[in-house]
Parts: sequence; C-alpha cells; structure tokens
Amino acid sequence: MEIVAGVYQIKLPFPQGVPGNTNAYVVEGSKGNIMVDTGWDSSEALWAFREGLKENLLKFQDINWIVITHIHPDHYGLASKLKELCGAEVIMHRVEAGLINSRYKDFGGLLAEVEEELKKNGVPQTELTELKEASLWTKQFVSPDLPDVMLDDGDRLSNGSFEFEVVRTPGHSPGHMCLYEPRKKWLFCGDHVLFKTTPHVGFHPQSGDNPLGEYINSLKRLEALKTNFIFPGHGPVFNSLKLRAAEILQHHAQRERAIMKVLNEGLKTAYQVATGIPWRAEAVGTFVNLSPWDRRLAILETIAHLKLLTFEGKVGKIDQEGTSLYLSKD
Ligand SMILES: [Zn+2]
Ligand SMILES: [Zn+2]
Repeated sequence: MEIVAGVYQIKLPFPQGVPGNTNAYVVEGSKGNIMVDTGWDSSEALWAFREGLKENLLKFQDINWIVITHIHPDHYGLASKLKELCGAEVIMHRVEAGLINSRYKDFGGLLAEVEEELKKNGVPQTELTELKEASLWTKQFVSPDLPDVMLDDGDRLSNGSFEFEVVRTPGHSPGHMCLYEPRKKWLFCGDHVLFKTTPHVGFHPQSGDNPLGEYINSLKRLEALKTNFIFPGHGPVFNSLKLRAAEILQHHAQRERAIMKVLNEGLKTAYQVATGIPWRAEAVGTFVNLSPWDRRLAILETIAHLKLLTFEGKVGKIDQEGTSLYLSKD
C-alpha cells in the first residue's frame, strides 16, 4: 500500500499463529530504494514481503538498502535472507550491532545474567527457569548476521529523492534508531512510538542502567521534531506525535503512582511490586494470569521503573543476602 507518494507499507505477519504484524516500509528514490525493518525470519513473512512488493510493482532487486531500527526479532529477523534476495546492504546503529553476538549467537552468558537478575529481583525459584527461557523460542526466527554499514546519531542516508537523518533513540533498545526526513517531515520510528500500544521498556543485562529514563529523553527529543507523518513498526501510521507522546508519558506516570503505592506498604522486591500493580486496563491485578513471556516483560518493566525512581531519588534500594529491596523515600 502506498501511504504517501514514494512510501509503501508492507505488513509482515508474526510467526506460529502469534497475533500481530510488523510494518515494513519501502521508500522509493531516484538512486535506489530504502527498506525500513524486515519482520521475523519465517516463510510467512518472506512470502508476505514478496506479495507486497508485487502489489506495488516492485521486485526484490529494487531494494538497495535495508535499514534496521533495532535488533528485536520482529524487525531484524529476516534481514539476512532479504539481503541475499535483494542484493542489498543491511544498515543499523553501531550500538545495536554490538549486541547481536551476545543476544543471538553466543547467548549462554546473557541467559545466565538474565537468571541472576531475575533471582536478585525476587523471582521465586519455581518461576525462574520458565521466565529465564521465555524468549528462547524467538531465536529460531532470526538469522543473526552483522550489518554491512553501521551508523551513528546524526549520520545521513540518501536515496537520491529523500535524505534521512539518523536519530538514536535508546530506551526500547539501546541502539534503537529512527529515520527523520526533515524536508518531508517524515519519521520512521520503529518501536519507539506506537499508536495503539505503549512500547515495552525493560531493564535487562543489555539495556543500560536507566532504560526508562533514556526512553523518556528520546521521546522528548523526537517530540521536538516537526513531523507530518509518523511511520511506526506496528499499527497505524499517524500524524500526532505530540499527542501520542503525552499519552505514553501519562501511562508511565500512572504506573509510577501504582508502584509508589505498593512501596508505601513496606520494603519490596521488584517481583513483589510487579505482582502488586495492575497490568491490563481491562483486568486489574492480573499478573498471575499473564503468560510467562508477559510476566517476564512485566518484571523487566517494573525494574526499569524502579531504576528510574532510584535515579530521581524517590526510591532507595538496599541489597540483602543477594536480593534487592526497594523502599519509598517519600
Ligand atoms: Zn522492539
Ligand atoms: Zn516490534
């Protein structure tokens, strides 16, 4: 589907019946075409991409550059296969490229660190293995090759007709990058801003010390750009970045209040906080009903909040026999 002149969106399905799509985009230019994000490495996604190209009268060979906003499986998984089929160069931020090996190739060390982190934050032994391994299935849908080109914040990328500026937006992933076209006021924002869902921001061994603080700073940086069209990695294209950013900030403020309420009852582990706050608008207090995958995300999001609150001086942390306990300083 051509969304605006020169920008095509192709929806790539998630694998194994998991609901959802990744939005891939193709931006036509006089010197070649840029693709933004690739979807999972699955036959369904590859077929959907082929059909999407055909619908728009394009071929694999018409894709010259494949830009990856971040290395989550739903954006980066298929990059290697498409590089092969298109004869294109794969491009991503330098910081993100640095995470590929430990996340996808030699991941034993990272897995052990995740286990340690979950344990330290109070996850009971009975849930530990399940939560530690909750994302392992995704690795079969990623061909983890290094990019051909690594970019830094402020770098430019042109296809002859449009010139994009790289905006690094750490938070959802440390080397997440957006592409901004100042003349057209287009923003390709990956998972940094989504229209219907609040992007996940969690603390984990690769996230940096204060991912939520970084996320909010990145959001404010994007908000300052003049934008006409925002092309996200999932869900609808939209044009009201300021409004959406305000909603996302409000969501985090609301969660912060829920967390502070729990911390006002006494010293708590992150796990205890996560189990004591609402997770879905439609069903309050649903932590136990979440899937292992969602419970893990919930715990990592809670830790990210606690880290930010600690940086802001609202919360204190003490370590007791290998367990981190948080307390309200209010
Ligand atoms: Zn993502
Ligand atoms: Zn995504």
